[in-house]
Amino acid sequence: MIVFDLLCGAGHRFEGWFSSREDFDGQKKHRIIQCPTCGSPQIERVPSATRANLGAVEPKKPAPAAPGKPEEKKTPEMEGKDPFAIAQMLYSRMLDELLTKSEDVGKDFPKVAREIFYKQDAARAIRGNATQEEHDELVDEGIPVARLPVPPRERLN
Ligand SMILES: [Zn+2]
Repeated sequence: MIVFDLLCGAGHRFEGWFSSREDFDGQKKHRIIQCPTCGSPQIERVPSATRANLGAVEPKKPAPAAPGKPEEKKTPEMEGKDPFAIAQMLYSRMLDELLTKSEDVGKDFPKVAREIFYKQDAARAIRGNATQEEHDELVDEGIPVARLPVPPRERLN
């Protein structure tokens, strides 16, 4: 399944689940998709920057580097800290996790992401660089990629 962020002609944003890109195109063409808010069949896809993992993984076997949920249990180091500091700490841990458990493929990212998606390469979590254009192309092909909101910093150990 792929999740697309969708936008109707009246500006309502919602999610749609499809078995493939073709499935989405077919449903859109036949006006099967309708806005849950106003019922408009005029639907466009919008780029999503909030979802998916790095690289493509088998749905049933999440790669070890799939971003986990931030821990919700309080630990002693969180005691007395304000929520923003805690959120920042969890966030930086999540990034560390992503960076240490994924393979850095640098500028080959779009190429490798595609190869993994089309099963020409071993499934694994990767990270690297992509231009805005390359990113959009990957998203258009239904390849799950996520943009890191900050430039990755390498861990020093
Ligand atoms: Zn609508």
